[in-house]
Amino acid sequence: MTENNPAPYNGLVSNRLEGRSAVITGGASGIGLATAKRLAHEGAKVVIADICSPEVGQAAADMVGGIFIRTDVTNEEDVINVFKVTNERFGSVDIAFNNAGISPADDASILDTGIDAWRKVQEVNLTSVFYCCKHVIPYMLEQKRGSIINTASFVAVMGAATSQISYSASKGGVLSMSRELGVEFARQGIRVNALCPGPVNTPLLTELFANDPERAARRLVHVPLGRFADPDELAAAVAFLASDDSSFITASQFLVDGGIAGAYVTPE
Ligand code: NAD
Repeated sequence: MTENNPAPYNGLVSNRLEGRSAVITGGASGIGLATAKRLAHEGAKVVIADICSPEVGQAAADMVGGIFIRTDVTNEEDVINVFKVTNERFGSVDIAFNNAGISPADDASILDTGIDAWRKVQEVNLTSVFYCCKHVIPYMLEQKRGSIINTASFVAVMGAATSQISYSASKGGVLSMSRELGVEFARQGIRVNALCPGPVNTPLLTELFANDPERAARRLVHVPLGRFADPDELAAAVAFLASDDSSFITASQFLVDGGIAGAYVTPE
């Protein structure tokens, strides 16, 4: 929890996800892990689907009283398996948080980015969401209920001069795919929303900017709230989108960005 961030769920007692199962891809780290904790806290049975080592995945699952299924989201068989096992184990697949993603250093300006770097990011960030939605929706159609949250990014709606061209394009794809699925399946009880986080304080980002305060300052000036997000703040938004509290929200670009996308001039 950061200093300026009022704890999003300290002391909160909620069981709004009681009895629901939730599959979280990329659930062993960062936003995914924070969300696993939050959804479990609200009563969900959590499945961590991640490519990480079995030790790391099991440790994450143990933290939330859930299960770990080693999954490579770029492998269609793995994705089919994770939803099948979840359904067998818990009797339904109620929440899919399709969140695994990468932003490697060899994805940069279009002038410097090779086709292999481009393709790798498209596979992990975009094709994976295609597989996850394709294979979870049949369960949700059967149940006549489900909430899908796909992790896009604020760069799906804004351009950055410090380009990661494949990453931005992949997140734009996640955003439009989510919108279209939200519209297509709205009358069958399935809601689909795109979570668009602004910069989040993950270990990678913290380390990068600790070594280069000027680089951090150049970015922070664009954030009206004057800081990066805590992963728990994204988790709180996902819990809302997963729950019936968001029952009239679908096909949305759900920005959790500290005001970045709305800002022209920011406070001093
Ligand atoms: P993170 O690196 O902390 O966690 C990502 C997780 O995804 C890891 O556990 C990793 O093992 C897993 N993963 C990677 N490739 C995978 C694969 N092929 N199959 C299964 N799992 C795989 O990252 P994070 O910062 O928590 O990011 C989560 C999501 O949020 C990503 O989609 C990212 O693009 C997006 N996002 C992050 C930020 C940010 O500032 N951190 C901002 C906007 C959007």
